[in-house]
Amino acid sequence: MRATLIYGAGDVRVEDVPDPKILEPTDALVRVVRSCVCGSDLWPYGARPTTEHGDRIGHEFLGVVEETGSDVSDLKRGDVVVAPFVWSDNTCDFCREGLHTSCRHGGMWGAEDVDGGQGEAVRVPLAEGTLVKLPVGEDSDLLPSLLTLSDVFPTGYHAAVKGGVGPGTDVTVIGDGAVGVSAVLSARRLGAERIVLMGRHRDRTDLGRDFGATDVVAERGAEGVAKVHELTGGDGTHVVLECVGLLPAVETAIAVVRDGGTISRVGAPQYEQVPMGFPEFFRNLTLTGGVAPARAYIEELLPDVLEGKIEPGRVFDRTIGLEEVPDGYRAMADREALKVMIRP
Ligand SMILES: [Zn+2]
Repeated sequence: MRATLIYGAGDVRVEDVPDPKILEPTDALVRVVRSCVCGSDLWPYGARPTTEHGDRIGHEFLGVVEETGSDVSDLKRGDVVVAPFVWSDNTCDFCREGLHTSCRHGGMWGAEDVDGGQGEAVRVPLAEGTLVKLPVGEDSDLLPSLLTLSDVFPTGYHAAVKGGVGPGTDVTVIGDGAVGVSAVLSARRLGAERIVLMGRHRDRTDLGRDFGATDVVAERGAEGVAKVHELTGGDGTHVVLECVGLLPAVETAIAVVRDGGTISRVGAPQYEQVPMGFPEFFRNLTLTGGVAPARAYIEELLPDVLEGKIEPGRVFDRTIGLEEVPDGYRAMADREALKVMIRP
């Protein structure tokens, strides 16, 4: 089959790889119907050291079950399913606590003998725990929004949940990428009152407004901080959702959070340390967030998507075929596309 491999910074290729086969009785084979490129794929795309062999890549996909192992009883051939961005058993103590990213038996897509999501098919380990059945056909108009349940929407939702967003909360969202606007949508869903979106790409912040942002701040650094203070009577907001992953974004978060407030970060950190010294201690700030256990949120978010109440799939502004994936990476890295959907 054809699948995507990354060889180094700026070097993504679509090549022939071995067809996946059932290896464990708990496996399922899924034919990929939709996949996509993640903002976090852009980190290796920007900086991965070049190697002779490529690594499989892609961790967001939905598709159709083609075959199941002998221990898989609640999935059958023909089921349309979505996969969260890590696989997990959904039964261990961490999974039962809703922390599937720490599953005792789980793992990542594209690692060792597990396929990446940006290909024609995937061997899904621990299929019953990992996959969530979708009550739609493989030609449904809802596929883009359902695909966001794999990562980007639950990641934004995780930011808002960990930040403690609820009715009446004032929120600042830093970053107008796909996760940032998903965090806006999530904060709105949880009842936030004021949502300030910090971002400087007009088309993205416009989508953020559609998703529920009440204010947009395009300025960055000290100017951006001053703008948020101006909008919030000098105090900042109760919660800040940091959806970038770079240190300046964290510094902005600390500067625009209200005393006693919470910074929730879901941008994959490209830094080692966070400035949480005496001044932040004195302000009683909380730092939380982390990698999103997407699997824990899918059942909760699915009904709103199926009913069309929310349309998180609007983050996709380009659809490509599998052979065009290298150009899809380039388009996202160049900020030409917000998020690229792949139709193998
Ligand atoms: Zn587990």
